[in-house]
Amino acid sequence: MTDLPLKPLFDLPEGVIYLDGNSLGPLPRGAAERAAEVIGAQWGQELIRAWNSAGWISLPRQVGDRIGGLIGAPEGSVATGDTLSIKVYQALAAALALRPDRRVVLSDRGNFPADLYMAQGLIDTLGKGHELRLVDPDQVQDALGPDVAAVLLTQVDFRSGRMHDMAAITAAAHRAGAVMIWDLAHSAGAVPVDLTACQAEFAVGCSYKFLNGGPGAPAFIYARPDLIADLRPALAGWMGHDAPFAMELAYRPAQGAERLRVGTPPILQLAVLDRALDVWQGVSMADLRAASIALSERFIAAVEAQCPALRLVSPRDPAQRGSQVSFAFPQGYAAIQALIDRGVIGDFRAPDIMRFGITPLYLDAADIDRAAALIAEVIGSEIWRDPKYQVRSRVT
Ligand SMILES: *Cc1c(COP(=O)(O)O)cnc(C)c1O
Repeated sequence: MTDLPLKPLFDLPEGVIYLDGNSLGPLPRGAAERAAEVIGAQWGQELIRAWNSAGWISLPRQVGDRIGGLIGAPEGSVATGDTLSIKVYQALAAALALRPDRRVVLSDRGNFPADLYMAQGLIDTLGKGHELRLVDPDQVQDALGPDVAAVLLTQVDFRSGRMHDMAAITAAAHRAGAVMIWDLAHSAGAVPVDLTACQAEFAVGCSYKFLNGGPGAPAFIYARPDLIADLRPALAGWMGHDAPFAMELAYRPAQGAERLRVGTPPILQLAVLDRALDVWQGVSMADLRAASIALSERFIAAVEAQCPALRLVSPRDPAQRGSQVSFAFPQGYAAIQALIDRGVIGDFRAPDIMRFGITPLYLDAADIDRAAALIAEVIGSEIWRDPKYQVRSRVT
């Protein structure tokens, strides 16, 4: 068993077993103090001078480089800001511009709907007759052809945790002449990622899931270094300009991935994220992955042994699974509410998925055993039947 000694780096409420760090990471210790410093000492006292005196202006780049270190991206190749939806749009726009003679955007039906909505929105805006083609996740490679301009995939499926083979699919996309875009929303900070090795043109992701940056923390976008100098950003914001304070009338993109920035960066969120990234100092992604697999296997075995009514929908082979475990159960929504009432926080994804994030930074074997026992109690005793657990909240 490989429990990591990092739990003390987080401020978790007493009595809570948090199995939802795949959706919103918990509060790292020191993050609240960092936010208070930015608000009080910097914004409060320095006012606008803080852009220079407190280094606010460098924060997006600094945080981008730190995220880059976790996903195999070299310095200067990752920009931060905005939301993941925006970054999907930017990456896809840039990808389509690289393949002007092709008209198909290929994705899979397991993708997060936001990515598909953004892709369709961009296609409609362009008005050039592009088509968003969706196939089953295991059919992606077969669907590659000479008409495919870009492949837009989320590596780890948000519902099931099924994980695409980044290296193999990227290589296949390149053989077909397509541009590869990976959404790392459920990968960054969850599984080892090596963008340099896989040679994908673009990657995007968010920082409030496994990177623990807090609600609404900024997204990131990676562009392969050899492509950056020729990229024309679709959203030509002033913070992506080469000299924002020259106030030139015409747009001139910044050197490096900074050209994929748009507007004024969210300094409070970036500062909190910067503090949250301290957690990773000295953590090897290989150790994290080993711990994630060990905890996931333990969880699956315990739940399956005690709850025959739950059906595993995540891949059984850990090599094909990200850092979450999902079970189908017709009354999944109510069961999750009953679990939350007992201190085990997971979440529910329609139509029937009970989803549990396995995050070894702050979960250990004892947490997993206790969570499985409480799931068994809720399912075995049909505690979920209580009418109070049937009431649907807006966020599930
Ligand atoms: C979480 C997630 C999003 C959310 O996008 P936001 O713009 O940050 O709200 C988008 N795509 C994927 C694949 C996600 O997992």
